[in-house]
Amino acid sequence: MMSENQNFVKEDFCPTCGKQVDSAMDINDDQSPPTPGDYSLCIGCGDINTFDNDLNIIKLDKSKLSRSEKYTLKILLKKFKHLKIIVENNNQKG
Ligand SMILES: [Zn+2]
Repeated sequence: MMSENQNFVKEDFCPTCGKQVDSAMDINDDQSPPTPGDYSLCIGCGDINTFDNDLNIIKLDKSKLSRSEKYTLKILLKKFKHLKIIVENNNQKG
């Protein structure tokens, strides 16, 4: 299944909840892969992390974000709830 995923990045773990993740999906339906510094929203716990220069998922220091960045995260979290429903529906289809 993993090889069929066009958005495969690398196997990694969410630094917050430890969930294994193997892909990234652009929230705007863009097919381009993530780049260093992009946000990574964990589908397991909903925490927002970030990609380092080697595209490892690392903890995001939210205290260093600007106001506009914090606003972006708020929008992301809203979209997360919607995304989680889609994923759960897909999982049920098998
Ligand atoms: Zn997580």
